Amino acid sequence: MKPTVVIGGGVVGLFTAYFLQQQGEEVIVVDKGDMEENCSTGNAGMIVPSHIVPLASPGMIAKGMAWMFSSKSPFYIQPRLDKRLVDWCLQFYRHSNAAHVQRSIPYLKAISLYSKQLYLDFVATHGNEAIKLQDRGLLMLYKTKEGEKEEAALAHLARESGLRAEILSKDDIRKLEPHHEVDVLGGVYFPDDAHLSPKDLYRLLKNHLEKSGVQLQRNVTITGFEKSAGNVNAVMTNEGKIDCGQVMVCAGSWSGEIAKMLGFRLPMMGGKGYSFELPNTPELKQASILTEARVSQSPYGEKVRFGGTMEISSHVDKINMRRVQGIFESIKAYYPEFKAAFPSQDKIWKGMRPCSPDGLPYIGKAPGWENVAFGAGHSMMGVSLAPATGKLLADLKSGKIGTLKTDAFAVDRYAR
Ligand SMILES: Cc1cc2nc3c(=O)[nH]c(=O)nc-3n(C[C@H](O)[C@H](O)[C@H](O)COP(=O)(O)OP(=O)(O)OC[C@H]3O[C@@H](n4cnc5c(N)ncnc54)[C@H](O)[C@@H]3O)c2cc1C
Repeated sequence: MKPTVVIGGGVVGLFTAYFLQQQGEEVIVVDKGDMEENCSTGNAGMIVPSHIVPLASPGMIAKGMAWMFSSKSPFYIQPRLDKRLVDWCLQFYRHSNAAHVQRSIPYLKAISLYSKQLYLDFVATHGNEAIKLQDRGLLMLYKTKEGEKEEAALAHLARESGLRAEILSKDDIRKLEPHHEVDVLGGVYFPDDAHLSPKDLYRLLKNHLEKSGVQLQRNVTITGFEKSAGNVNAVMTNEGKIDCGQVMVCAGSWSGEIAKMLGFRLPMMGGKGYSFELPNTPELKQASILTEARVSQSPYGEKVRFGGTMEISSHVDKINMRRVQGIFESIKAYYPEFKAAFPSQDKIWKGMRPCSPDGLPYIGKAPGWENVAFGAGHSMMGVSLAPATGKLLADLKSGKIGTLKTDAFAVDRYAR
């Protein structure tokens, strides 16, 4: 039996390797980086069954246009003549409507709840000391009447689809944050959400996989494929070729480039975001999203991580400190008593979210290829959906037919 090659060692690739290894497969994970830092290490670590509305939704275009004109705003598209970007924006525009949202909700809800359960199983097997999963819900905080209206509408949609959502007053919020006078109008609490430490999860997965015999090949870039009659027989790398029986492409925001090597179209843009950790004083206890600022707050006892912004730009490595300043200023706007100094540039983490234009991931078989599948494009939910994606890809390999409906995630939906 030839090995399965997983392209990309982010959280999605590692969970794919995890479930493949569990079913007795020989697995090789290949990553062009050193597997110390990628989008999967410094994010907010939220597991979000509440996020049933895709990024492409009504109102997003108008909001995005308004944000484009502020250097501290949470969203920016660098205007440039790039065919891929124009194509992506057109598709995003086409999907930003109520019908797309309604169609997507049952799919996102089902895969998110499945993934959350797989996390609970993972913790039961590996313990919680390392990954620090806190199953304590997520609070969506709002300061404005407009924010209240939007979040109440989302809570309504969530309830309609069978999820739990509670609208909280300022006094209710004070009970969740006893050390803070939270400066908001109110919030929506989603008790079924959770958060964990993404860096610790990533480290645990790498250690577990290596101990279980999975090869992690670092600093090896996939450059092409050896193909014959609808099959990939080997992946070509800068270090030589690797014979394979199956390929799983989990290359995050670079997955569109891999699809191009395989001859089909998979629209994808990298959405850059930043995060930083600060001492948690006075202690914040409840994970939250500061909704008007689009900033996430994930507490881990003595430390708390703040994250935000979505920059679709060609400057992959650049850190825009104006936007980091925007994140930092929003902390005081919601938690006026929070004490912290502005972090220096070397303390800022950045990651490229793999964004599909309709806000749904690509999970399943690659068009035209018998033995290639993709798990990519999870945008703001890659950690949340990684276990379910990995399990679905492992099931695909073993021929197991699951009950989860995945046709909305079809890899060929733009290639047809
Ligand atoms: C600020 C911020 C906050 C976030 N918060 C959350 C959150 O709270 N919850 C959540 O669920 N998600 C969150 N996300 C999103 C989440 O981080 C991503 O969706 C997730 O990490 C994507 O994982 P991935 O494995 O698909 O991609 P990546 O982590 O990017 O991994 C892809 C890997 O593929 C490798 N690769 C690419 N091309 C090649 C090639 N040709 N050859 C070999 N290797 C290749 C890359 O080196 C990389 O290591 C956040 C993101 C940001 C930026």
